Amino acid sequence: MTGEDLEQLKRQFPLLDYLRRLPWTARRAGPRHEFVGLCPLHRETRPSFYVNARKNLFYCHGCGRGGDLIRFVELFLSLSFPDSVAHLRRELAPPPSGPPSGPADDLLAPTAAFYQLQLHRRPEAPRYLQQRGLRDPALIEELGVGYAPGGNLRRHLVAHGYSFDRLIAAGLINDQGCDAFCQRVIFPCRQHGRIVNLYGRSIGATFPHRLLPGSKGGLFAWESAGAFPTAILVEGLFDLAVLWQAGFRNATCALGTHLTPVQWAQLSDRPGRCVYIVFDSDENDAGQQAAESLAQRLASGGLIPRIVQLPDGHDPNSYFVAGATAADFTHCLNRARSLPV
Ligand SMILES: [Zn+2]
Repeated sequence: MTGEDLEQLKRQFPLLDYLRRLPWTARRAGPRHEFVGLCPLHRETRPSFYVNARKNLFYCHGCGRGGDLIRFVELFLSLSFPDSVAHLRRELAPPPSGPPSGPADDLLAPTAAFYQLQLHRRPEAPRYLQQRGLRDPALIEELGVGYAPGGNLRRHLVAHGYSFDRLIAAGLINDQGCDAFCQRVIFPCRQHGRIVNLYGRSIGATFPHRLLPGSKGGLFAWESAGAFPTAILVEGLFDLAVLWQAGFRNATCALGTHLTPVQWAQLSDRPGRCVYIVFDSDENDAGQQAAESLAQRLASGGLIPRIVQLPDGHDPNSYFVAGATAADFTHCLNRARSLPV
């Protein structure tokens, strides 16, 4: 691969796009092309990871690491330079089109089923769900929640006749043969009923959110949530889970604050729909800034946005975990802010 090929790869796949797919949440920092958020490469509570979208470069003031997209992939996935380039080329490859039986499809369903079986075999997983306020066994089953302990997926799938190469191509294992998901609670992401991705929430100290390469799918459970005249849009699946548990079945989730064109089209499928945006009120204010700009876009698209602020910097998950009731949350919805006209 020549230097020109590498430059072209980086132009085709802007660093910021790659990070947002992870998903990484950022806010604008000063000059127009700068963004800042929590560092995906080390554990921190105050954001020190900067991205310059024009130069296509990152730098973390916390761990002192920086560089371009390929450097980021090397560090984030612990891959060599050639493996990082190969990984990025696979990520850029167009998703399989045509009938719903692309190469990843028939792999993700058995993987999700395997992870579901693991959930109750490992005490740490139900304990984690309990901590996050997810208690209803029927709901856990309905959402298809599973657990990836790490280190056993490859053996299971290979024993069922799936080739090593296909597991790598789907991103389920890395080029060294290690499971992509390790000690993570897994939620299958569906679109039109089929699983198009898996979201893994770390139960330990490692980078909290991870999706497989490729599309994050549509809005979570839009087939049911979209039937309501109003929608509650949250950032994370644990937010969604506690809201469903409390009876707010019109809650949906975009997996992050950045909506894909598919998610955008879904939310706009009913003109005049009222959309309650309940993003995290994190320390760096990224969630609230994202809510504000999304609300403006929704309003110009003919929808009725409402920005919901939860007390004491809570997100929906922490709010319910701290003891809030459905009535408390309804109270917050009723006090939601409209955009100034
Ligand atoms: Zn860092």
